[in-house]
Order: sequence, then C-alpha cells, then structure tokens
Amino acid sequence: MANSVLPPAMERADLVWRDGVPESARCGDVYFSRDNGLEETRYVFIGRNRLRERFAELADNRHFVVAETGFGTGLNFLAAWAEWLDCRPKDDSAILHFVSVERFPLTRSDLEKALSFWPELASQAAELIAHYPPLIQGTHRLVLAGGRIRLTLYFGDVLDAWRDLSFQADAWFLDGFAPSLNPEMWLEDAIGQIRNHSKPGTTLATFTSVGRVRRALIDAGFSMQKVPGFGRKREMLTGQLEASGADSGTAYRSTVAIIGAGIAGTTLARNLAERGVPVVLIDRADQPGAGASGNAQGALYVKLGVEYNAQTELAATALSFSQRYYRRWAGQFWHPTGLLQLASNEQEQHRQQKFLERCQYPAELLEPVDEELGSKRAGLKVTASGLWFPGSGWLEPAKACAALADHPGIQRVFGFNVRTVRSDGTGWTIESQEGQRLTAARLVIAGGHESASLNPANGKLRLKPIRGQVTCLPAENYNLPGAVICGTKYLNPAMSGIAVTGATFDLRDNNPDVTPESHQENIEQLAELLPAVMDDHGPDASELAGRVSFRCASHDYQPVAGELKDENGQEVPGAYLLTGYGSKGLTWAPLMAEYLADRITGQPLSLPEPLIRRVESSRLYPKPD
Ligand code: SAM
Repeated sequence: MANSVLPPAMERADLVWRDGVPESARCGDVYFSRDNGLEETRYVFIGRNRLRERFAELADNRHFVVAETGFGTGLNFLAAWAEWLDCRPKDDSAILHFVSVERFPLTRSDLEKALSFWPELASQAAELIAHYPPLIQGTHRLVLAGGRIRLTLYFGDVLDAWRDLSFQADAWFLDGFAPSLNPEMWLEDAIGQIRNHSKPGTTLATFTSVGRVRRALIDAGFSMQKVPGFGRKREMLTGQLEASGADSGTAYRSTVAIIGAGIAGTTLARNLAERGVPVVLIDRADQPGAGASGNAQGALYVKLGVEYNAQTELAATALSFSQRYYRRWAGQFWHPTGLLQLASNEQEQHRQQKFLERCQYPAELLEPVDEELGSKRAGLKVTASGLWFPGSGWLEPAKACAALADHPGIQRVFGFNVRTVRSDGTGWTIESQEGQRLTAARLVIAGGHESASLNPANGKLRLKPIRGQVTCLPAENYNLPGAVICGTKYLNPAMSGIAVTGATFDLRDNNPDVTPESHQENIEQLAELLPAVMDDHGPDASELAGRVSFRCASHDYQPVAGELKDENGQEVPGAYLLTGYGSKGLTWAPLMAEYLADRITGQPLSLPEPLIRRVESSRLYPKPD
C-alpha cells in the first residue's frame, strides 16, 4: 500500500465498528473475538503460555518478557498486566516487559473507545491511554505501574521491529490478523526472527491453526501442538523451544557506582534504584545538581532535524519519553506550560518551512503556529511564526536532581572529589583526593565535561566544556510569557519573581565567574527576539543576577550512553559512560538513563539498534589517520 503520510507520521488503523467490536477495514478482520475478546485472550495467550503459574513462580532477580505480534487495541497487553498484578511475583522489584509491534496504530480516541469495552481493565487502560505515545515511527518505551510494567512499543513493520530491537522473550503472543488476510505477519522471515528473539524454553500461543504457520514454527525449532481453540474456533496452536537449563533472564542486582549527580547521574541512579539495583551516587559538590544541571529554570527542548533520520528520531523519541517521564513530578519541579520555538530569523524561517514540507508530526507533539496563535499560546506578543510544543515546558533542574537522588536505594556520597578509578578485574575502587575509597561492582562515569579526565581507558574522549551564563530577570521589570519561548535565546515564565533567560554559548572560555558582558549579550539578544519583553526601566546589566556553568558536548553534539570503550573499540569491563548532553540535558536524560539501566540490568533495550549506534562511546575517540 502506498504511504499516504510523511515521516514520521504513521498510517493509522482504519477501523469499522460493528456491534461495538473494532474491525480493520484494511485487513477485513476483527481486533478481538466477537464472542468475548478478553476471555479469548485469557484462554489463548495467557492460559496456553501458563503465565499465571510462571509469574507466581518467578525467582528473585528475574524479569519476564512477553513479546507480541500486533499491538492493536492493547487488550492482550492489559490482560497480561492485570495477571501480573494478580499473581505478584515474590520479588517486589520484578518487572514484566512487554514488547509489541504495530504497523497501523489506533489513535488515542479509538484506543479509548475500544478499551472502554473492558471495565475490569479500566485502571490499566486509563494508565495506558495517558502514556500512549504520539503516533510517530520508531520505538517507544512506556514505564507503567511505577516501573513494574515496561512496554516497548515499536511503531512500524514487524520485520523492522525484530531486526532492530534487542530482547529475548519468555513467551510469545502471535496475534496478527488471520494469516490469509495479513500474510506479512506470518512470513518465514518473521517466524525466523521469533526464534532468534526466544530464550531456551520459550513458549508461544496463537489463535490460528493454519498448517503453513505450524510447519514454519516447527522448522524454526519449536515443538508444536494443536489444542482446542476458544469459543467457536475448533483448534489453536501452542509451541515451545527446548529448555537448556541455562538461566538467561537474571537481572543484574550488584552495586553500581555513579560519578556525577547532575541530571544524567540522578536520572540513572533513580532508574536503577527503582529496579532494585543498589546505587552509590558520588559527587564532588555537597548537593546534587551543582554543575550544569544547577540553574533555577531549564527548558525541555530539542531541535528536530529537517529530515527524519536516526538523529531526528533519537531527539523526537527522547522528547516524547521525557514529557511522559516528568509527569509524575508536575507541580513539583516540572511545569508543563508548553514551549514555542520561534522562527526568529530568516534562516530559521526557511528551516522550519522545509521541516514542515518534509515531515508530518502529530499535533500532540508539535504544531505550526503563526504570529497570532503563537502569541496566544505563549502569553506574550511574538513577531514571528514558530512551532508550538504543547507537552513541553520547563523544569527546576537542581530541584529535579535532588528529588531524583532521594530514594532509599541510593547511597549519596557528596563532597567526594574523585582522584582515580581502578578496576581489579571483578569490581571498581574509586578513590578521592583525600584518600577515601569506595568500591562497587560496576562504574558509570556521568561527570559532564570532566568525564574525559576520569576515563580509565586508553585514549582521549572528545568531550568539551561550553560555558553558559544565564541571566535572572526580575519579573517586575519585564513582560514575561506564560510558556517557554526559544529562539536564538530562551526565556522562561516567572518563578518566585524571576525568569531565567540565556544562555550564552562560549566555546573556549573557561571563566567561571558571572560577567556583565554575558548579561548584556543575553539581554540584547532577548530584546531582538522578543521586543515585547522589554520595559524601558529594566535594571542595568551589572545589577542583574545570573549563574555560569559548563555544559558537556561531544564532538558531534549527540549524547553518549553505553559501555565505556577504549580508543581501539575494546570495552572496559564493568564501566559505562553517560554524558554529552550539551544544552539539551533535561530532554536526553530520562531516555538515556532508561536505556543504560536496561543495558546494565540485562533487560530488553528501549532503543533500537540504529539509535544505539548513535549514542555509543567509541565514536568519541578520533579516528586514526
Ligand atoms: N493484540 C491486539 C489486541 O490485543 O488488541 C490485536 C491484534 S490485531 C488481531 C493484529 C494487529 O497486527 C493489527 O493491529 C495490525 O495493524 C497489526 N499488523 C498487521 N500487519 C502488521 C505488520 N506487517 N507489522 C506490524 N503490525 C502489523
């Protein structure tokens, strides 16, 4: 079928409702049984994979992975989630991972309508609907039920999903439409991938009993059985791979030391602690968020590329993940006011125009606005068109770092100035300038621009500090917006009588002191960007307060998350690098932390392979000539 939408938009499910049951006009088949969809799910997928027993018997430190072909209305997912809660594995921090793929996603309102059918799943459905991602191509990680349920939802074709995603399933729900109506889902290639993503002993269940599917699964190595089907269906299939006795689902639970308590380190610390991993969080300062993450206000912001390539996908996915992530702290340190990205000069106008010609984003992520609508949205007169991001806003970064680091699973070691990190082959010793020592099984370096000097491996990491000075505007002297406005500079709404604007971008300037020149630059550029902000009686630049910090940028301005490697591309065992967020740290941090925590604990990965390559650490070493 020809693609009728521009990337990254998805072609949506084309639904016909008959007696309240959704049917696909494209495939001519139902999403769930007319007899009783939930009972069918329980019988076919939950029952025949023996999930209740397997969930209840799950050993400590194990997670469980269900993979599904065809997310549809999410009914199977919600039913598995409800069973997990009902059977509750003994281990409180055990996680049910559910990995699913959908080529034609339902809109949020169709999802709501379809799921309203199942009152007994109402609370799970409400949480899924609230977290349902914008319909854009790629991999979306949803962290639900306080992190006990993690959904990896790939919007795209099944073969691309299984090629790009990293996971090993304990159980499969094979739930495409009927093989005769939806052949792509049941191709031998797709079945071969099901085998590749299975652990020894993996089970599968499917409503179909078609011979071709059965034979392909047998060829792939599953022992298959025909069993009675649900309702009017005479037969269905179950299958299993031979068990090997090897335990491949054990989550990592030894101590992880993290150096750096900025937004990178604290989001990772919190993520690991909530997965049951003990964390030692180390910083030279006396409190978290003392460096680049210490400003009073910071915007949740990315600049999306004109082309929808891997770099843009990474930014768009990180933005939508972070918008979901901070929601639990709304009103505390997260202020979802919306954000206006102004086309503040001719070059940016041209760029935004090309961007809108080549890409199509759902309005819940961004929408183009003219001057009038932009002024209305931002609560301040603007003189250019722009892009409105309704789910963005601003954070109090230092407060965020402190709140994230406050968890019983995180041992906070502040005022500890790291001098060396050493490995003895089994773990790491971290020594301070004063000779104090800490040990941990694994080490994460999240030290911003100082990460390069902590690198225990051979080679010099291409990370550079970029000075940024922000200026605090007294609210009584300026006309301030109700939402964040970004252009050549950014401006936040007022908080406690001040609004932060900035920041300067000073390459090769290591002056740590606040200067009137930098204030002057911030004010002048702001006056150009937003003339309506200025009052005639603003204070002199020398009277303004501000703050200087040093962002850490990689040579390609992309974040770094993954195993630490040396200049020859060899991994340093048990060490990881998490940094390079530049001025977009608040946006990168939640997803990079989620991904690195997946890697450290050996759980399904929240990033697909092409995006993993973009963030890996060996690219930071200069290539030999
Ligand atoms: N499991 C779903 C539920 O709980 O509601 C029902 C799944 S429905 C029977 C099959 C789904 O597979 C549809 O949503 C359809 O859009 C999706 N699908 C069909 N072909 C696909 C493909 N090639 N790649 C990914 N998804 C596909």
